[in-house]
Amino acid sequence: MKRKLYRFAALTIVIVLLTTFINTDSINASINSKYPWVHVTIQKETNRTESKDWIKALDEALDTLPSHIVTGIKSENGLNVTLTVESNEKWSGRAYPDLTTGIYFNEQPSSKNYPLDSEPPILNGFSHNEKFYVALHELGHIYFFRSEKDTHDFQTFEKIVSTKNAEGEISWLEEPSTIYPLSHKANQLAESAAEAFALFVVSPDILKACYPLQYNFMRQVFGREYTETPNSIITRINCKQ
Ligand SMILES: [Zn+2]
Repeated sequence: MKRKLYRFAALTIVIVLLTTFINTDSINASINSKYPWVHVTIQKETNRTESKDWIKALDEALDTLPSHIVTGIKSENGLNVTLTVESNEKWSGRAYPDLTTGIYFNEQPSSKNYPLDSEPPILNGFSHNEKFYVALHELGHIYFFRSEKDTHDFQTFEKIVSTKNAEGEISWLEEPSTIYPLSHKANQLAESAAEAFALFVVSPDILKACYPLQYNFMRQVFGREYTETPNSIITRINCKQ
């Protein structure tokens, strides 16, 4: 009788262990960034291919950034990146101002069409280019959050594009480069900075032509220039040329 019990217990333990390993394996069968300081967590995913493509787009976004900006993003803590699925939410990317939470990507947000007020524009799901753009936008947020302690780049950006009255209402000296920040009353300045950051890499010519103050500021921050790339993103730019 005792023996049977032992056997039963042993078998249970084996099963529990196996299930644990199988589960961790499927959830964590880790997708790694090529940057060892980028820590990827998969909270939920639509499928593995999609998750890999998000991290590939993130890596490509980091590849295009100058090393001093990458260093700013990396800071002492590295960067945490979480992939998730929030089908009831509109957002596709989110960056958190604290130094630990990092970036979240939503693989399947609620808006599937092309709403200019959602972040980002979504054309039948995310193309790789769109993921690249969202990644740049979120990295822009992280860069500006982390620069608040040293270079104060975000404060400089605020002063270049706006003034605020005593009630905290913004008067734009140069409006945000895309409709997105204007349609969201909250964090307009932070969103405007992240959009200009991403556009400086993807559509510098258009940014320069229509938003010279933002272009010149980003030129200073980046210390280099980029060449215009064909991208569906440009349709969201608020530029009547
Ligand atoms: Zn944003």
